[in-house]
Amino acid sequence: MQTLPEIPFIPRDELYHRLEDAKKHYSREKLHDILHTALKLKGLSLVDVSLLLQAETDDDIHLILSAAHTVKEAIYGKRMVLFAPLYLGNYCSNNCLYCAFRKDNIRLGRALLTPQQIEEETKALLKQGHKRILMLTGEDEHTPLDYVLEAIRVVYATRDDHGSSIRRINVEIAPLDVEGFRRLKAEKIGTYACFQETYDEVLYTKYHPSGPKSDYLWRLFVMDRAMKGGIDDVGLGVLFGLADYRFEVLALLLHAQHLEHSFGCGPHTISVPRIEPADGAPLSTHVPYPVSDKDFKKIVAIIRLALPYTGIILSTRENETLRQELFHYGVSQISAGSRTNPGAYAHPDDTTGSQFSLGDHRSLDEVISALIDDGFIPSFCTGCYRKGRVGQDFMDLARPGLIQKFCMPNGIFSFREYLEDYASPQTKEKGLRLIAHLVSEIKDHNLKTKTQKGLTEIMEGKRDVYY
Ligand code: SF4
Repeated sequence: MQTLPEIPFIPRDELYHRLEDAKKHYSREKLHDILHTALKLKGLSLVDVSLLLQAETDDDIHLILSAAHTVKEAIYGKRMVLFAPLYLGNYCSNNCLYCAFRKDNIRLGRALLTPQQIEEETKALLKQGHKRILMLTGEDEHTPLDYVLEAIRVVYATRDDHGSSIRRINVEIAPLDVEGFRRLKAEKIGTYACFQETYDEVLYTKYHPSGPKSDYLWRLFVMDRAMKGGIDDVGLGVLFGLADYRFEVLALLLHAQHLEHSFGCGPHTISVPRIEPADGAPLSTHVPYPVSDKDFKKIVAIIRLALPYTGIILSTRENETLRQELFHYGVSQISAGSRTNPGAYAHPDDTTGSQFSLGDHRSLDEVISALIDDGFIPSFCTGCYRKGRVGQDFMDLARPGLIQKFCMPNGIFSFREYLEDYASPQTKEKGLRLIAHLVSEIKDHNLKTKTQKGLTEIMEGKRDVYY
């Protein structure tokens, strides 16, 4: 491992004191002022977020949720990006007490996909209609970087019967050094994601008793190394339930500010997993700091207000009802039709070796059908990434709200392709109605013409249309 840099940017005790202090100074008037600031879409300061996190009454939380809804609509419109996780293996040399893959879980059936099995998994995902995946694996000698790089090549090279392929692979693997990130970048990955799990160093040490992951600082500076290695888009996250959620949200904000300050660009995404039951993972059934649904909604909404241009990712850990609700308060990307055990897409009856239990078991088509009912545009778009609108360029484009001009038509195109090639007849019928309605509502003449042209091309058989 290379020498660790710089000074840690999470002042643990100071953040806890700040939260105590905010408790004394919270008021309804201050809440109104902060929400007024948030609606200018310029994000929020640490002080403001410390205060927002103190909101407890239903009325106050309702105000926060409704401001988050406004911000989300203003920046993202009705678009909802879809992806699926692809687990390569479940061997792990770490011992994270909340995860079924941990080394000491001797009851877990271990698996590692061969290149041929990776191709089978990819074909199964393509058959569902997926175009974006998140590739994951444990940290272990069975899955060195060379293995992951080969897996990326296999996935990108795989085609389905329509000639379609996975167009963006985001990667969530253990922290690398700068050279490792350069090699990852050379394989044309999208986002590199790595969750700190908890930013509370004392608790982190307790929950990660052995293995390379027990080094808190190596993990804390992972995104610095990723960005130095040329990765444009990075994804942060914490596992809610491991520490006081208020502390974690402040720390996430500080991490985002640290990246912005050091590299001129904050995180592309933030993930918000909550601990779910997992076989052989003691903390998953005795959650140290449980987060209620009410607090979870508040968390998502506050992140949306504090970092308006950062995507928020929600997984299938959460149940269908809560997920549908959270889409309105800030979530912009979701997994769907997910499995968390290696090989499970090609062999759906095999449920052994999962990382955690899922709350949403619907198929991709069912999730899309429900999104349509709520007026969302299910999107598989990878246009920005493939046009080089990533990192700082993406943020520059996103800030004035222009992203909608690209995302909206591109999202519609990818949705139209899905309807044509993969959707059930019922989903296709209502999806086409939604598209007709969306196009009829486009005010900008050029944008409307462009969108209609792209849709005609898709109907004539062209695929992978984007601007
Ligand atoms: S959370 Fe990741 S590092 Fe920890 S045991 Fe599970 S797979 Fe391994």
